[in-house]
Amino acid sequence: MAAEEMPSRCGYVAIVGRPNVGKSTLLNHLVGEKIAAASRKPQTTRHRIRGVVTRGADQLVLVDTPGVDPSTPKLLGKVLNRTARATLDDVDGVVFVVEAGRWEAGDEQLAGWLAAGRRPVVLVINKVDKLKDKDVLLPFIDQVRGKLDFHDVVPLSALRGVNVDPLVTTLIDLLPAGPHLFPDDEITDRSQRFRVSEVIREQLLERLGQEVPYATSVDVETWEDTGTAIHIGAVIWVERDSQKSIVVGKGGRMIKAVGTGARHELEDLLQRKVMLKLWVKLREGWQGDIDGIRRMGIDVEP
Ligand code: GDP
Repeated sequence: MAAEEMPSRCGYVAIVGRPNVGKSTLLNHLVGEKIAAASRKPQTTRHRIRGVVTRGADQLVLVDTPGVDPSTPKLLGKVLNRTARATLDDVDGVVFVVEAGRWEAGDEQLAGWLAAGRRPVVLVINKVDKLKDKDVLLPFIDQVRGKLDFHDVVPLSALRGVNVDPLVTTLIDLLPAGPHLFPDDEITDRSQRFRVSEVIREQLLERLGQEVPYATSVDVETWEDTGTAIHIGAVIWVERDSQKSIVVGKGGRMIKAVGTGARHELEDLLQRKVMLKLWVKLREGWQGDIDGIRRMGIDVEP
């Protein structure tokens, strides 16, 4: 059959894994543009973000699930785990990301959840570039490939983009025949506002590290395109007064640095001049309040 007569394939694939194994980095690399905050801190991805990869006749819609961390004591952590599980029932395949050379209790638990589902699972062994001794890779693959009936096992480096293309081929194999779900040039069905808030949140996480919890949330409240520039106003929500002072910084220096860093990234992203205004607001205890979480615009399964 000639290539143009092949039916197109299209479907959904979820990316799951412990916090910090590199899910956001992989998603960004696959999609080729920054859409999910990637950082060294766990659980920076709180939304079910979709990236769309269109390759030839085929279209792969990627669903990024929040980190799976059963030990998280607060309600927000429990909600995330429920969301992750609900996502897994609703896809054509699952990418299970682990870190090369490390198989932890969280991986074991997630493998158990995945084994209970009926979706084909592709195991990605990420961060192979980090292995000092490359000889440990093959024994590690042998050790983990028996954990589950994997459709395939793909070692790669999401950061360096090594072996990512073969993963796309493997994933497209899992998709049913069907028409494209999104326009071919679409990168994400999330609004630009959401992507803007992720850029700001990533700046905060990069500059403040452990000082500000992952719960910090950013809402874009105003958006005005004047023709010469896009004027954006965003609120950074924090949980405690002490965090507010940290985010603002001495003499406003921290928030200014965050704003400048974010503005440069946003001008790249939007390909326009950007004027950015940031505020810090206090919202006490919202982490324990489901309605509060919904009001913050975070997807919560009923
Ligand atoms: P997530 O929590 O699973 O979404 O993980 P992130 O994508 O936020 O990545 C966590 C950290 O691991 C970040 O510092 C990434 O730069 C880093 N990372 C991700 N992929 C790789 C990789 O292939 N190699 C190396 N050396 N670091 C990586």
